[in-house]
Amino acid sequence: MLKDLFGKKKKYASIPGENAKKDIPEGLMQKCGGCQKIFYQKELQKNLNVCPECGHHHQISAYDRINSLFDEGSFQEWDKELLSQNPLNFPQYEEKIEKDRQKTGLNEAVVTGEGKIHDIRTAIAVMDARFRMGSMGSVVGEKIARAIEQARIEKMPIIIFTASGGARMQEGVLSLMQMAKTSIAIQRLHAENGLFISVMTNPTTGGVSASFASIGDYNFAEPGALIGFAGRRIIEQTIREKLPKDFQTAEFQLKHGQVDKVIERQEMRDTLGMILDIHEVGGEANETSARV
Ligand SMILES: [Zn+2]
Repeated sequence: MLKDLFGKKKKYASIPGENAKKDIPEGLMQKCGGCQKIFYQKELQKNLNVCPECGHHHQISAYDRINSLFDEGSFQEWDKELLSQNPLNFPQYEEKIEKDRQKTGLNEAVVTGEGKIHDIRTAIAVMDARFRMGSMGSVVGEKIARAIEQARIEKMPIIIFTASGGARMQEGVLSLMQMAKTSIAIQRLHAENGLFISVMTNPTTGGVSASFASIGDYNFAEPGALIGFAGRRIIEQTIREKLPKDFQTAEFQLKHGQVDKVIERQEMRDTLGMILDIHEVGGEANETSARV
């Protein structure tokens, strides 16, 4: 990398492509991962990072996602102060965490809290794949489990947006343990008839797809999201067969009954609001709004 060779930050991003050989200031333009067209980043952000031409859904930060869903000013964050330790003394783990903190402005790969959608109170956990690939270490698992517990205690629904490469290898078996912990929290919520809506976004793989992400009362996905456990190459090598082209996409999972509905980002708030409304039986929020 240039940075390593010359010890200074590269100021420009080269965007490969026929008509874009010139260097473009970093952070100003973005190439669509679907149609390869180049857009002003602001233009894409205004459209919730969905390409206006081809509809490709790019990554969106946890806070941008939350802002796109909740009634204005209603979101309150939980457990922001929880920070990862380095239980295995894994080399350079702390440095990597710190780098991602600087890059994303987040303390960890998930943001949890509560707010209102269509005036209905709901708990939420939103994973952010920019932070350590959204991998689930102790803090991610703990924050998600706590959010589910809080939803159970306060009789709120919970919505979880997943975006994750899976378990966090730097935390070894403690990371794998989060799969059981989060799944048990969901089981306890379900035992008390709590509602859990899972929304799988790109990518939802490994230990996250194999635990809480797949056990929602509703399992939704964003268009084109990669959803699966092991990667294509590993499966192909193991079963010695070629897999279909759309294997492990949200649409493939929908076709095979693993996903209930694929929802475009622009439709997400209203669809979730409608479902929360259907399940809301004489809740406080409704009573309050009825009185108003
Ligand atoms: Zn596009």
